[in-house]
Amino acid sequence: MNRINILDDNTSNKIAAGEVVERPFSVVKELIENSIDAQATNITIEIYEGGQQSIKITDDGVGVHPDDIKTAFMPHATSKISSIEDVFTINTMGFRGEALPSIASVSNTTFKSRTTEFEYGKEISILGGNLEYIKDSGCNVGTSISVNNLFFNVPARQKFLKSPQRESAMITDIVTRLALAHNNISFKLFNSDKNLITTYASENMLDTIRSIYDKNTSENVINFEEHSDILSVYGYIGTAELSRGSRNNQSVFVNKRYIKSKLITTAVETAFKSFLMINKFPFFIVFIDIYPEMIDVNVHPTKSEIKFKDERVIFKTVFDAVHKALRDSRINSFKVEEDELISVIEKKAEDEKLLQEKIELLEMPIDLNFKNNAISYKPLQNVDAVFEGLGNEKKLPDLRVIGQFYNTYIIAEAKEELYLIDQHAAHEKILFEKYRDEIKNMQVSSQLLIIPTVMELCHEDFSTYIENKELFKSTGFDIEVFGDETITIREVPIILGKPDMKNLFLDIINNLKHMGTGLTVDVKYHKIATIACKAAVKGNDPLSQIEMVRLINDLSYIEDPFNCPHGRPTIIKMSVTELEKKFKRIQ
Ligand code: ADP
Ligand code: MG
Repeated sequence: MNRINILDDNTSNKIAAGEVVERPFSVVKELIENSIDAQATNITIEIYEGGQQSIKITDDGVGVHPDDIKTAFMPHATSKISSIEDVFTINTMGFRGEALPSIASVSNTTFKSRTTEFEYGKEISILGGNLEYIKDSGCNVGTSISVNNLFFNVPARQKFLKSPQRESAMITDIVTRLALAHNNISFKLFNSDKNLITTYASENMLDTIRSIYDKNTSENVINFEEHSDILSVYGYIGTAELSRGSRNNQSVFVNKRYIKSKLITTAVETAFKSFLMINKFPFFIVFIDIYPEMIDVNVHPTKSEIKFKDERVIFKTVFDAVHKALRDSRINSFKVEEDELISVIEKKAEDEKLLQEKIELLEMPIDLNFKNNAISYKPLQNVDAVFEGLGNEKKLPDLRVIGQFYNTYIIAEAKEELYLIDQHAAHEKILFEKYRDEIKNMQVSSQLLIIPTVMELCHEDFSTYIENKELFKSTGFDIEVFGDETITIREVPIILGKPDMKNLFLDIINNLKHMGTGLTVDVKYHKIATIACKAAVKGNDPLSQIEMVRLINDLSYIEDPFNCPHGRPTIIKMSVTELEKKFKRIQ
């Protein structure tokens, strides 16, 4: 690496400055980036108490020249650029020369480093920005830095920190992304001595995907790539199986830098639209390699946002690459030409339905009385009993069912009015009110799953679960922790029937994760009930006359039959007069 120099004011003033040390996660990110810039092939990260007590990063990179070790901690000291022009052709992660001095000013930092030309290394210790000592030190080639008692002298920052679990979850997340982008480097992350991430340097990114996620993920991704004059786009997209209720498993890297980009996310998701269920977010890892002149990384001090000079080209190239890969993978997986595709897809849907039925048989709850509960409209008998028992008034007139339209809407009449009822929205609302009342009265009845659902969670999801353990219990889920960040779901609320438990659980977790901490438990209950009931109601179903009557009856007795839990209408009414106006019988 070059020797370290201090940028002159003129240059440093042109660099987007600002706080790079917002929380433990930012320290970890900056330090790992330094190790990457130093061409390390092994990087170990150890944290305690969410990083606030201590963060230690050890690498086997090129190290710092002994005479530069103090300079490294001066503001605007960097070995990566010497003038502002260099920023436009930058290929290192850092260049501001701000991280080390900022970190050292709010912690007790010890930095040890040795280069190959020297037999010994140097160690420097800084407390709250003041030099404690510099001394010779026997150490391996490379660098190790410990950051202790972060923010000890900035109480305002301390208050801003989340729980150690949440802070370590954020750290795990950034290490995940950096490890994905640098598959040629081995990463190890330890939280309180517990190993959370291990990757092995490999030329094949699939190996890294497998180490970070799991075998199933690495087997369900499709490779893609596309090149144009100014950029290359490549990476992996997940099959429908890997789609989730949040964008957690989406990573975008530009010149290996992990960034957030609405433009690229939208391009990928749009390409997925014709292939994937809505309401779920696809898994993807997208790399864009582009001439540095075509982007501006100097927009934001943490460099997590960048500007593209030509957004249209970027959007189109990403969209085309992903769309083509999805189309090809469909064709390949059925080994047919495109014109035969439709019938094959229909056939596949049939196969899947058969398979699904088999799975449902296997997963049938032990108590056969509950077999159909909530999934079909048949067994809601107990519902009206409950509502009538609560003394709810009847909210709808006596309706006579005329029939069903489009397997989706019930047509009914009452005196001079025509009723259209959205059967799914209605069903969802009936379940919702019942479930909500059960939760409120602490009377949720659960059913045992014959085959428990076992799930291996990522660190962040697991810690969100642990934080909300009681909430799951009181809403009728019996969940056990089962080894390392793995849970077993044994019981689910009866009212939900046989939900797709994996996706339901992740949806709930994702929602909880993004809720503020100051919310009351009732708000969380409401959210869980909304998500769960949505999951319990399935798509188009032909209904028998009796089922329709039953559904309308149930609907009549709930507190608010007119809106679904999301606030959309469940019922549309039209009077004879309105109809006659439409037919121009009257004015
Ligand atoms: P920047 O990365 O923007 O240059 P930093 O404050 O993060 O600024 O680091 C200052 C300098 O210290 C770097 O330019 C680099 O020369 C040196 N340095 C920091 N960390 C390491 C490391 N892990 N290995 C080798 N050199 C390092
Ligand atoms: Mg840096």
